[in-house]
Amino acid sequence: MGDGKKSKIVEFLKKSCLNFLDAMFPAGYTCLGCGKELPSRLHARALCDECTESLPFKTGKLCSVCGAGIYVGTLCRHCSYSLPEYDKAFAPFFYEGLARKFVLDLKSRGREYIAGYMAEYMYLYYSSLGAEADVITAVPSTGKTLKRRGFDHTALIAAAFSERSGIPYAVLLERVAHRKDQTELNYYDRFAAVRGSFEIADLARAANKTILLIDDVLTTGATASECAAVLKAAGAKRVNVLTFAR
Ligand SMILES: [Zn+2]
Ligand SMILES: [Zn+2]
Repeated sequence: MGDGKKSKIVEFLKKSCLNFLDAMFPAGYTCLGCGKELPSRLHARALCDECTESLPFKTGKLCSVCGAGIYVGTLCRHCSYSLPEYDKAFAPFFYEGLARKFVLDLKSRGREYIAGYMAEYMYLYYSSLGAEADVITAVPSTGKTLKRRGFDHTALIAAAFSERSGIPYAVLLERVAHRKDQTELNYYDRFAAVRGSFEIADLARAANKTILLIDDVLTTGATASECAAVLKAAGAKRVNVLTFAR
């Protein structure tokens, strides 16, 4: 074998080995926030102490139904006017700073392993509240999004959450239509726009259950509310929503 050919093969092997290591330990050794190398005691958390400090944990007074920040009373302005179809929404973080980076790394940069870390934080938070569920399900993505992204990010989070919590994960909903891009719509129009977008996929596993519906971020809560309405129509006893950020 000529030297040139050999060095090419060595280069190839080195590269595949690095790719392999990247796939095996994608984030085990560096901080997901700042990229700094992590000591082994922090591998499971995947964040250095400074970045952990900077996580935007939800603090202050929150709406007792949707978890939005409020100043007075127990309900936010929207929930006082009209309650959503879900019973209660939980999220460990505000959608800003490092929490926003986690979501974008997963959704826009295709870093699928982030789902596991997000699920870990969601699980720690949810279990600290003493909240329970019979079954976990995820808000289904649109076919268009799935095609573009190549994976279903909410299903990944829900499956990882199920692994940690021991609560079974089931596909209970399917998306039947995607009306229009919601970003241009105001608060109440978003609720109308998602109406009819979901159908029940597993009636037997939804009936009489307390369901934990998982999504990455809750903004207006219109999608979560519509999913909850479909699950309740199928006989679900309670529907709680858990997102990574709010
Ligand atoms: Zn860091
Ligand atoms: Zn509210």
